[in-house]
Amino acid sequence: MSVDLQDSPTASPSHVASAQHSDTHPTETIPVVVAHGDGIGPEIMEATLRILDAAGAPLHYDTIEVGEAVYKSGHTSGIAPEAWDTIRKNKILLKAPITTPQGGGYKSLNVTLRKSLGMFANVRPVKSFAPYVNSPHPNIDLVIIRENEEDTYAGIEHRQTTEVYQTLKLITRPGSEAIVRYAFEYARTHDRSRVTCMTKDNIMKLTDGLFHRVFKEIAAEYPDIEAEHRIIDIGSALIGARPADFDVVVAPNLYGDIISDIAAEASGSVGLAGSANIGERVAMFEAVHGSAPDIAGQGIANPSGLLRGAIMMLDHLNLDRIAEKVENAWLKTLEDGLHTGDVYGENSTRRVSTAEFADAVIERLGEAPATLPAAHYTDADVTVGVHRTPTVEKTLVGVDVFLDWNQSNRQPDALGNALKEQDGNGLRLKLITNRGVKVFPDGLPETFWTDHWRCRFVATDDSVQAGQIVDLLGRLAEAGFDVIKTENLYTFNGERGYSLAQGE
Ligand code: NAD
Repeated sequence: MSVDLQDSPTASPSHVASAQHSDTHPTETIPVVVAHGDGIGPEIMEATLRILDAAGAPLHYDTIEVGEAVYKSGHTSGIAPEAWDTIRKNKILLKAPITTPQGGGYKSLNVTLRKSLGMFANVRPVKSFAPYVNSPHPNIDLVIIRENEEDTYAGIEHRQTTEVYQTLKLITRPGSEAIVRYAFEYARTHDRSRVTCMTKDNIMKLTDGLFHRVFKEIAAEYPDIEAEHRIIDIGSALIGARPADFDVVVAPNLYGDIISDIAAEASGSVGLAGSANIGERVAMFEAVHGSAPDIAGQGIANPSGLLRGAIMMLDHLNLDRIAEKVENAWLKTLEDGLHTGDVYGENSTRRVSTAEFADAVIERLGEAPATLPAAHYTDADVTVGVHRTPTVEKTLVGVDVFLDWNQSNRQPDALGNALKEQDGNGLRLKLITNRGVKVFPDGLPETFWTDHWRCRFVATDDSVQAGQIVDLLGRLAEAGFDVIKTENLYTFNGERGYSLAQGE
């Protein structure tokens, strides 16, 4: 499996192309950017690279500095400018966990990397390895495919009034299409039979509704794969209670983030999980866990999470036989009971150090697990691009004007009647809502009124011009209203592009 690097405008590496088609006789080695990270990072990276080398992975490594020292040297995103160039040139990053310093305005390196470099898909396999590693749910084998760039993670937030704060949730058609298609392609290339989509489209009909609609459209192109949708609340409950029932799960960013942790917790082996961030041009592979400063430098950390991230990288580079070789040796090591302290239990035979664990995996290269399912990767590629949506006809039909208003004991009728006086020049007040609930006309006295009012003005004709809205805003300002923001109301090819108010 791999994203098609050859189609990428900035990708040229012929060595990637050669490796994609011949992992048994590679003619050149593939450059991989390696970040050794903080805490246990250097120890588990060393163990991981030793295993990859022993397995004959045709890779060479270009090291970059990221993390604590870089943060403290004044780069608030944890990465130095020259490291960006190295990643953009080589396109594949294997990253050990880093320590994000507390406070001081430091930004999450992961969020910065994945958004700046367009890594739209976060792929998180969750598996249990019972009976060798204790797990409350012995048969979990699911993959969460989380949209990685959009949703509330756009981080666009504003305080608008004394009482009200806002975050903007952005769901796009290109972003939804890319992640949903990625999920189906992943299922097809990884012998998986079902994709479950999770949204809250019963409430967020436009944003989550788009994601669900795109899911249905794309599912129709994959008749060989079962497609189902679940509302996120019951979906998360089921992942927690019956995780073995799920196969591939695709979700927008926030839900995907939450269900990843629910699933990982249910598997009982968070420390063994790897993760991939996949984009059209760049991909990043890592362990799910953090830098574990409490055990750093002791040589006892489990390198399995990072190793499994590295196996995903081999799969991505279409080094499938090597990915299988490493994973099978790792599974056999688990079966033989050679366990680091974090997973040491009743089925362990020997407590081993990080280095001894790596040695044990290397000794077993070429062997297959006896009872756990052996690894199997196909040569098929996942080639998913992010495509712009053709423009449709857009008509301006009104405007929602948001006011900070705290007068007349916040009586909606007082506000409504005052605003009605501003009707004119092609726009009229249709209704007012407070936290989305209609309060004018005909509101209920039981509704709680904050100081944040959405006032919907609609066109008295079929459409309205931007200048008429500006004119309305001028009249409102003149009358002393505190306009905090506006949202234009559009139809797109005649279809309403805004939600109705509760009670509208
Ligand atoms: P953590 O995952 O580092 O540690 C949680 C617990 O699990 C600790 O007791 C630790 O000893 C143990 N543990 C984790 N990985 C282990 C391993 N491979 N082998 C054995 N035991 C292991 O989580 P935390 O303590 O919340 O975070 C520590 C630091 O890591 C923080 O600075 C955090 O910001 C950072 N972090 C980084 C990443 C990343 O770089 N992707 C992810 C999560 C957290």
